[in-house]
Amino acid sequence: MWQVLKNRWRQGFRTAPYPDKEPDFPERFRGRPVPAENGPGVDLGKSLFNEDALQDRPPAVIGYSRDYRMAVSRREDLLLMKEGLKLAGALDQKIKKLYGRSLKLRAVCAGSCNGCDSEVQALGNVVFDLSRFGIQFVASPRHADGLLVTGMVTRNMETALKKTYEAVPDPRIVIALGACALSGGPFAGSPQTRDGVDGVIPVDLYVPGCPPHPYTILDGLLRLLGKLKEKTPGRKS
Ligand code: SF4
Repeated sequence: MWQVLKNRWRQGFRTAPYPDKEPDFPERFRGRPVPAENGPGVDLGKSLFNEDALQDRPPAVIGYSRDYRMAVSRREDLLLMKEGLKLAGALDQKIKKLYGRSLKLRAVCAGSCNGCDSEVQALGNVVFDLSRFGIQFVASPRHADGLLVTGMVTRNMETALKKTYEAVPDPRIVIALGACALSGGPFAGSPQTRDGVDGVIPVDLYVPGCPPHPYTILDGLLRLLGKLKEKTPGRKS
């Protein structure tokens, strides 16, 4: 027991000081793409954040920045031009009053490769400690305020997703997470998928990435709940 306490003391406080302090990222981190000058822009909903995008001719992406903030409220806002992004705004006052201090989410894997789900799981570790913001995952949609959906929505999961959505009491929110959930990702166009969540149920927050970094997810969630100090644009319905 004494050894356990000693080790715990030595480890110190591990939780990141985010959002009071900007996060650090490893060298290999790929954040928001840098669109080419006079290019067609980058659809973050489809972006896989890989090297291949840099080889396209004419190039749409010339590199990746270290900016992790990418979550938006509307699908059309995912088109990144050189002017930047219209980041997600807070929920309207009525919903914010309900969920601002306690948000329960039901996670639904609608056909993902589990990469996105692993990043969601990481949000629960001591570094990110999602529950300090009052956000927790629950086992039943009937106990949830909203859904967090990963995966492109396979035909096999379409009915299950609709039924899970209907089981969440109103007002409910939906978060689509990762390129697959936003557009079908690498599986877009397959007859076995619905190419993203918003073709099946309405979406309130789009979080790009393949998979999104936990800080990108956290930033989107805190924007949605109006918990970030910086000014965010209002949510449009
Ligand atoms: S977006 Fe990428 S990491 Fe997430 S489920 Fe799709 S392929 Fe996997």
